[in-house]
Amino acid sequence: MSGSAARLQAIDAVIAYEAPSPTFAPAEAPGEIFGRNVFTKAVMQKRLPKAVFTSVVATIEQQMPLDPAVADAVASAMKDWALEKGATHYAHVFYPLTHSTAEKHDSFFEPDGEGGSIAEFAGKTLVQGEPDASSFPNGGLRSTFEARGYTGWDVTSPAYVLENTNGTTLCIPTVFVSMTGEALDHKTPLLRSQQAMATQAARVLKLFGHDDPGTIVSYAGPEQEYFLIDRHFFLSRPDLLNAGRTLFGAKPPKGQEFDDHYFGAIPDRVLAFMLHAERELFKVGIPAKTRHNEVAPGQFEIAPMFERSNLAADHQQLLMVTMKRVAREHGMELLFHEKPFEGVNGSGKHVNFSFGSSTVGNLLLPGDTPHENAQFLVFCAAIIRAVHKYGGLLRASVASATNDHRLGANEAPPAIISIFLGDQLADVFEQVAKGGATSSKEKGTMTIGVDTLPVLPTDPGDRNRTSPFAFTGNRFEFRAPGSMQSIASPVYTINTIVTEALDFIATELEERVAGGEDFNHAVQKVLERIITDHGAAVFNGDGYSEQWQMQAQARGLKNLRTTMDALPELITPEAIELFGRYGVFSEREMHSRYEIAVEQYELSIAVEAKLTVEIAGTSVLPAAIRYQTQLAQNLAALKAAGVEADPSLLQAVSTPTAALRTALTALKAATSDESHAAGVDAALHARDVLLPAMAAVREAADELETLVADDLWPLATYQEMLFIR
Ligand code: ADP
Ligand code: MG
Repeated sequence: MSGSAARLQAIDAVIAYEAPSPTFAPAEAPGEIFGRNVFTKAVMQKRLPKAVFTSVVATIEQQMPLDPAVADAVASAMKDWALEKGATHYAHVFYPLTHSTAEKHDSFFEPDGEGGSIAEFAGKTLVQGEPDASSFPNGGLRSTFEARGYTGWDVTSPAYVLENTNGTTLCIPTVFVSMTGEALDHKTPLLRSQQAMATQAARVLKLFGHDDPGTIVSYAGPEQEYFLIDRHFFLSRPDLLNAGRTLFGAKPPKGQEFDDHYFGAIPDRVLAFMLHAERELFKVGIPAKTRHNEVAPGQFEIAPMFERSNLAADHQQLLMVTMKRVAREHGMELLFHEKPFEGVNGSGKHVNFSFGSSTVGNLLLPGDTPHENAQFLVFCAAIIRAVHKYGGLLRASVASATNDHRLGANEAPPAIISIFLGDQLADVFEQVAKGGATSSKEKGTMTIGVDTLPVLPTDPGDRNRTSPFAFTGNRFEFRAPGSMQSIASPVYTINTIVTEALDFIATELEERVAGGEDFNHAVQKVLERIITDHGAAVFNGDGYSEQWQMQAQARGLKNLRTTMDALPELITPEAIELFGRYGVFSEREMHSRYEIAVEQYELSIAVEAKLTVEIAGTSVLPAAIRYQTQLAQNLAALKAAGVEADPSLLQAVSTPTAALRTALTALKAATSDESHAAGVDAALHARDVLLPAMAAVREAADELETLVADDLWPLATYQEMLFIR
């Protein structure tokens, strides 16, 4: 089926859609479901010998290496538990350097040599796997003759069973590394950065009198935006199907200017999906929390409760897979693309970030005693330094061809990375810069140390939605990550740059105190220095405004508009030194990541360009020509009948039709231009030649959409996709 017939059939099918009958008993309490399919600490405690359990918990809580002697016992208990849950297979789940999650499935059952089978699962199988997986991007870290990668169990992320109509699988979250131990995934650097942060945070905390602060970890709470459309429309559009976004489509007459969608009533069908999805998420231990309509029509959000960032990253990946699967069961396709519909608000993934431990609590909570306040200000200052010094790396951590459509487009934070503190906190830091702070907001004399620092309320009071990095009362919210990316790269980047700042602060304070300086005075001086050196990143105004672009430039802040502007940040000598110093990436690993990102950028645009050629050439242009022909025939018939005929409509259609032909020819030539070597050259060609050539094709096609007779138009329109459900 092709052309307008496919579109019209899709519309009929959508209108005829009947919701499936309820898939589960809604009376089941969430508390009974939550974590049902997770090999939790509680399950382990019940099933493992005490010594083994204690050893595993030490690994989880204090990031101690796993004692190989306990692996067999854990594997055996895990296998029995999974078999009881109906599992037949196990899978090492890993996170390659794409947006996806990969799994290597194996059967528990092995032939016993006597015509039967026995369930086998040894400790070494749990701890290490060997998927071939040579097709995942590795940026030169593995040559093909030694193409093996290894997966290794991440004990800090619990195993779970995943139900499927065709069988149940035990899933084991793992790292994915090369034979020589180089990271081929998103998880490895995240774990490494957690460890580095723990070390430096402990140094700072020791100075504040915490001799045993517990293992400091970062926490992440991602807010996920997404679109839902009827699956019939999705399948009728090759662009959505293959590129995840519409490459054509005129803006709907009813757009998001009708604010009724935001926090409006959730349509029944969507609500049924949400309830179902949440239940599935609960089963695998993902605490999905809120739901409401987002700004655009057809757009929604889900925010799981924050967790240790390593676990949050795994859960986020599982959440995306689960949500997509459940949406299909409800006849809808869930779109995670950052910009599925041009001219309509895009989707992001806000990453809420904080750090601390169960012993010292959240280090970004202002607290109510002056002492806690000083400590809070120091950790806050670490973030200010990090964001200012390494804003380019933050930008690079969210860089992708798809996110480029959203960042800086007056709906999402600009590509300039600044930090929002809110009036009150900004005021405190201003006073600090002048020599000391005694009051929060308005009144107050300066020059006093820690003991008289102002009391800060925990409620942020004000909100700034235009800032890429905003303080929101007890955490920072990084708003630039794209909706379909893994949160691992923003999180390990924040972890690492904050680690550097904590290292700097600890060193300064240690030296000053060793030199006999009063601790309060030393804190004051370090805060003063940080706010003086790095205050340029603090911006409380409107991040969407023109003036900010100019002001940011005057302040020396980077404005890395496109992915190809941002990615080189990954391989500057400073970046390589930074990640190397804290053991997060070797130089080779940094280069490999850079190369993979460049390649993926180029590939993603090249695919879109080819799709644009195909759709324009085989659907849009034929429709335009058919209509043009009909109009011409009509004119001729009128003339023959001696009726006065008005050629203006034919002219109106002919102009964009001619423009479409010209633009299509140019795009074809650009896509088949082979003179651009792979790598940066090809990526720049994609950005500077392919994207504008695609835009020219689209412009003509979108104009035709407003002219061509509706029954001839081949592609489901924005109006249809976003409003029919
Ligand atoms: P808003 O819409 O106001 O940004 P939401 O309640 O929708 O807030 O989402 C806030 C997100 O921040 C949730 O995922 C929540 O779990 C997370 N969060 C809350 N407190 C913290 C914290 N201390 N550290 C990290 N994330 C947090
Ligand atoms: Mg938010």
